[in-house]
Amino acid sequence: MRIACLGWGSLVWDKRTLPTLTPWFQNGPFLPLEFARQSSDDRLTLVIAASYAVCSRSLWTVLSVESPEQARHVLGEREGVQGTNLSKHIAVWPCEGSEDPIQKRVGAWARELRLSAVVWTALPPRFNGAERVPALDEALAYLKGLPDTSQRKAERYVRMAPVQIDTPYRRRFEEALGWTPVRSIVDYASVQHSTSSGDATTKGYWETARSRVANFWKKNDVVNCERVYPKQGGTCEMCGYTPIHWHFALSNQRTGAVITVARNCISNFYVLTGQKIHFPPHLRKAGNLLSKLYPGSVLQLEPAVTLPELTPEEEYDDDAPHYGIGMSDEAFEQWDSLGLDPWDPDPNDLAPF
Ligand SMILES: [Zn+2]
Repeated sequence: MRIACLGWGSLVWDKRTLPTLTPWFQNGPFLPLEFARQSSDDRLTLVIAASYAVCSRSLWTVLSVESPEQARHVLGEREGVQGTNLSKHIAVWPCEGSEDPIQKRVGAWARELRLSAVVWTALPPRFNGAERVPALDEALAYLKGLPDTSQRKAERYVRMAPVQIDTPYRRRFEEALGWTPVRSIVDYASVQHSTSSGDATTKGYWETARSRVANFWKKNDVVNCERVYPKQGGTCEMCGYTPIHWHFALSNQRTGAVITVARNCISNFYVLTGQKIHFPPHLRKAGNLLSKLYPGSVLQLEPAVTLPELTPEEEYDDDAPHYGIGMSDEAFEQWDSLGLDPWDPDPNDLAPF
């Protein structure tokens, strides 16, 4: 059974206990999402607003579960939804005889991807104690009026939301409050340091990264990316963040030392050292992707440059799918049969929270 879970808010960057088999993919169903639910800690969180006309494209992942019921339970656990609320606030498709337009929309999408079931969080909008979507002006005034600590949490939530969740409220928040979307930890760190006393986790990130880079690299050392491979639940050796999916093995040409990092740390390595990481021609696809995501952080070698020796296992055809390396045949087939693009950006490793 292929069971998918939809995401659009903090689930995407903070899945906690949710047992996922894949990264988050960006081509979920279009849903009427809006920042329309006051959470217990005063954030305005993204929920499906059934009556809403504007839609954003949700994200999705494959769950490691045996049945739709189990999927409902694991998502309920992550969302803190229990008991009788489980069937009310965690939706499951298919749902016999349902006339719900969201069910129909999700169903049409799921059939195309040959998914057996889909689960998603169906918490209703809520504002000032009523089950309703706040008007745009109300929402803006509410966020503006929050005390400092709550406002920082609310800001972080809005800015961390995946860029593709492009809603009218989000545009207005960006315009009025400057809450631009965060694309990488680099942006987020600078935001935190400039607007508040700083987020301990974020400061910790830079301290850890700086000290590990200092152990690995001295000025003018050349650093090559040797290998790129996917592995669920890995750890970035530069910042300690886990879980990461895509691993980039970087080697220091002078010392031979190797450090395996998540891709946002490729960019942050450049921020810390001012030095670009060399990507040899056989990793051109990875290099191109990183150049697009983090301009200036990667240097792509021309074929004429001498390359580090590769073992036969590491040497492979550039046209072959990169995800074959380091992945079990079973996992490979699963990805392949799902038609998944392994180079879909993986928001899991966007930020170290
Ligand atoms: Zn890292």
